[in-house]
Amino acid sequence: MTVRLRVAPSPTGDPHVGTAYMSLFNLAFVRQQGGQFILRIEDTDRARYVEDSERQIFETLRWLGLEWDEGPDKGGPFGPYRQSERLDTYAPFVKQLLESGHAYYCWCSPERLAAMREEQQRAKRPTGYDRLCYGKTREERALLPGFAETPVVRMLIPDDVSLTFTDLIRGELSAPRPDDQVIVKGDGFPTYHLAVVVDDHLMGITHVVRGEEWISSTPKHLLLYDWLGWERPAFAHMPLLRNTDRSKISKRKNPAARLLWFREQGYLPEALRNFLALMGYSMPDGEEVFSFEEMVAAFDWSRVNPVGPVFDLTKLDWLNGHYIRTLTSSDLASRMLPYLQEAGMVADPPLSEAKALLAAATPLVQERIALLSEVVPMLGFLFVSDDAFAVEPEAAAKALGEPGRPVLVAALAALEPLSEWRADAIKEALEVALVGGLGLKPRLAFTPLRVAVTGRTISPPLFESMELLGRERSLKRLRAAST
Ligand code: GLU
Repeated sequence: MTVRLRVAPSPTGDPHVGTAYMSLFNLAFVRQQGGQFILRIEDTDRARYVEDSERQIFETLRWLGLEWDEGPDKGGPFGPYRQSERLDTYAPFVKQLLESGHAYYCWCSPERLAAMREEQQRAKRPTGYDRLCYGKTREERALLPGFAETPVVRMLIPDDVSLTFTDLIRGELSAPRPDDQVIVKGDGFPTYHLAVVVDDHLMGITHVVRGEEWISSTPKHLLLYDWLGWERPAFAHMPLLRNTDRSKISKRKNPAARLLWFREQGYLPEALRNFLALMGYSMPDGEEVFSFEEMVAAFDWSRVNPVGPVFDLTKLDWLNGHYIRTLTSSDLASRMLPYLQEAGMVADPPLSEAKALLAAATPLVQERIALLSEVVPMLGFLFVSDDAFAVEPEAAAKALGEPGRPVLVAALAALEPLSEWRADAIKEALEVALVGGLGLKPRLAFTPLRVAVTGRTISPPLFESMELLGRERSLKRLRAAST
């Protein structure tokens, strides 16, 4: 059997980190088994549809290296892969369910349903549809109050519905008894529950891997498979990612719920992949740093821990720093460049010069940064135009002014006559003048220089920074800070 798995995000905003998490685990199994991975866009909820969301889903999953074999932009033998383009597909199955008595029309107005629910809650009875419409023709129902012209279609959940099923991660599971689920809405669109079953079946999906929030829906889906005479797929419900306070990760509360946030912050796709893999998953040897290929080779559902993994960004920062250090210097430079561009820092000098400067400066920060975006505070002083260069006010208050001035004056006197503007020569001249001459401790001696030249108290190594900045620009900044 060829396995076919899918991820089925809804385009309701910028992509959620959960979509990447699901894609990663789907894909690990698919690649191990040599099957296909399908991207399906579940866009039948028109009220929550967001225009640009689909493009962002494609872009962020690709950025993460989680490529699909079939999907809306790629096509494939089971398309279309957007539910809104499949609306005709569902109608015959709805008809079949209505005719076999497994589904029925419901004309209850939203107001009637709300009143019914309120009444049930007041009476402390279980809430659920009271089947007022069941067994009635339109004409019969129209005589009763709370009638809406356009009906919905509901599943007739039998009394003896089986509530248990086997999950690849969790073993035997049981879900609460479902209500008579709506499968076609008043606007004629299928609900998620119908569309997901029909599409998964028609697309030949063999394993449904999704978030644990869908566990309670699975018995309804299984009924639909049975009623339509279809083979059931296997199910694996992944744990929900949690904040450190164990609440569910949501875009409202945690910026890291947005997949785009990771790229904005300067995380590497390989680090984020490794991090997401660690969420609930452990390698047989307990190793925490591993590649996607290693995960694929060792993948096993039984190694997924269903207890909600905590999204610990300190761990991600550590992993990201680790991966940054494994990159070649030129790879790191080209990955940092967009952050400087984004910050508007490479217009002057021109791009080719900026690239050469960045290539030379990259070794100075490779060991020191955890995020690609740190290139901006760390190396920005090299790229910013002299007119725009400014010392950070807190750094100026700490190191410049009266106490810093004699140090800067002595440094200028030592540097101006230097014949060669190289880090080792700069170091030697400054040590002689400041540590030897003024008798200062090195840290005290060099802080005002660092602040004057880089604008910050934290920077790459000072002498190398000055070499890269060049004689004229360095001296100019020292002079400006000493007056
Ligand atoms: N559209 C659903 C979601 O975004 C898919 C759930 C499923 O995988 O069945 O959560």
